[in-house]
Amino acid sequence: MNWNNAEIIDEVIEEFAELAKIPRPSGHEKAVGDYLENRFRQLGAEARRDETGNLAADVAASAGCEDMPRVILQSHMDMVCVAEPGKVFDPLTDPIKLIRGEDTLTADGTSLGSDDGTGISIILYLFKHRDEFKHGPIRAIITVDEESGMTGAGALAAEWLADAPYLINCDSENIDELTIGSAGSIGMDFLREISFEEIGPEEGSAYEVKLSGFMGGHSGECIGLGRANAIRVLAFFLTELAAAAVDYRLASFRGGHARNAIPDEASAVIVAAASEGELRRIAAQVTQKLKTLYPADNRGIVTVAAAKRPTAVAGAEDTLALIELITNLHTGVYSMSTVVPGLVESSANIGQVIWPEAENGGKARVIFFPRSSIDERLAEFRMSGALLAAATGWQMEAEAPAPGWAPRANSRLAEVMNRVYQEQNSSPMKVGAIHAGLECGFHAQKAPELDIVSIGVTTRDIHSPRETLELNTIPTEVKLIAGTIEEL
Ligand SMILES: [Zn+2]
Repeated sequence: MNWNNAEIIDEVIEEFAELAKIPRPSGHEKAVGDYLENRFRQLGAEARRDETGNLAADVAASAGCEDMPRVILQSHMDMVCVAEPGKVFDPLTDPIKLIRGEDTLTADGTSLGSDDGTGISIILYLFKHRDEFKHGPIRAIITVDEESGMTGAGALAAEWLADAPYLINCDSENIDELTIGSAGSIGMDFLREISFEEIGPEEGSAYEVKLSGFMGGHSGECIGLGRANAIRVLAFFLTELAAAAVDYRLASFRGGHARNAIPDEASAVIVAAASEGELRRIAAQVTQKLKTLYPADNRGIVTVAAAKRPTAVAGAEDTLALIELITNLHTGVYSMSTVVPGLVESSANIGQVIWPEAENGGKARVIFFPRSSIDERLAEFRMSGALLAAATGWQMEAEAPAPGWAPRANSRLAEVMNRVYQEQNSSPMKVGAIHAGLECGFHAQKAPELDIVSIGVTTRDIHSPRETLELNTIPTEVKLIAGTIEEL
């Protein structure tokens, strides 16, 4: 194997550019699936798709290597489509416009889809150049809908995994990281019908309480960084109001953006028999306490301002039920791994609170998202959630959990790959597990014997319009995979 780095980059980017022309947000992968099935066939592979849209493509071993083990290379065909504010972009019809710099690839005002278009393009490159290295049978598996629930990996037939001892997932984001474990998760929503009642002027004045300036971040990667949850802090503020003997009525309570993001903001409208000055004094006290509670996230503030008088407020029981639920649901790190030092094993995030309109009535929804590399822990969260829901008067809806991928002690694949990387780059990889979800959890659940690792080219700011691929990590990954397959 003696491949020229610049040529590898050019050819991989050629494959990538073809993918970028085909819109492929999660749930809309038909066109890109058709393209890929055809492209793998052009390269001499036997390709097929399942009912969900997942693709498998097989090539035979090179001459004399028929006894070598089959290796699966895995990636996903959907991408997160986001655009800069003000950018006109329809993810269902518009292609991604690429901007190639000297060392990087970015998109013109949108996410790039390097996650995981680069993984696919590298697999295509290796299929195309398979005569240039020794290999046993190779299978590509490209799933659908990784980004919005991993339903492709969930529906993948176990038979597609059963006849191979090794799987290399190409969906990680740092070239020198070798991932050997990931966390599972369980979506849990709490619902409660809110009864609204009219209020008279004697109840006081209307105020908006706003929490802002918090750091937020990904609820897996950032959960161990000591950040505040704005929804939790808003409930804390209301509890402090009650403790200060301020009579208040809650008109609305909302916060957060998604279950897998730590809420960086939240707000409530209240009617209170207190002056604006008094409320501001309590807000300033709470802001001060936050600096002690969350020293790593100390720019967050609580502000109070006069607001338009609401037509109705929630019943006192509903308000109490909301505060009790939010205060008692665990949010933040729950336990640390005893196998991998420094790794969060289990955590939970109150991601979002959605509040009904007083005019139409309806249910409030509290969106909760625990993660753990240990499936039993997710079952425990589900059980304690159900008990808390019953005790505080909420109805709980839980999804089927996404399984965790527990690190295995003696992975031959990880050992070989790290050795090959060290020979090629004269430094070892960082071997570790992540506190976020990967499709590998589903693979490990279906094929417990399968030896799995996850690697990837270096891509910064994924899922954002700043998504940036570092081009020089492409040949590193191509050679790493080819070298590992030869060694296996
Ligand atoms: Zn991905």
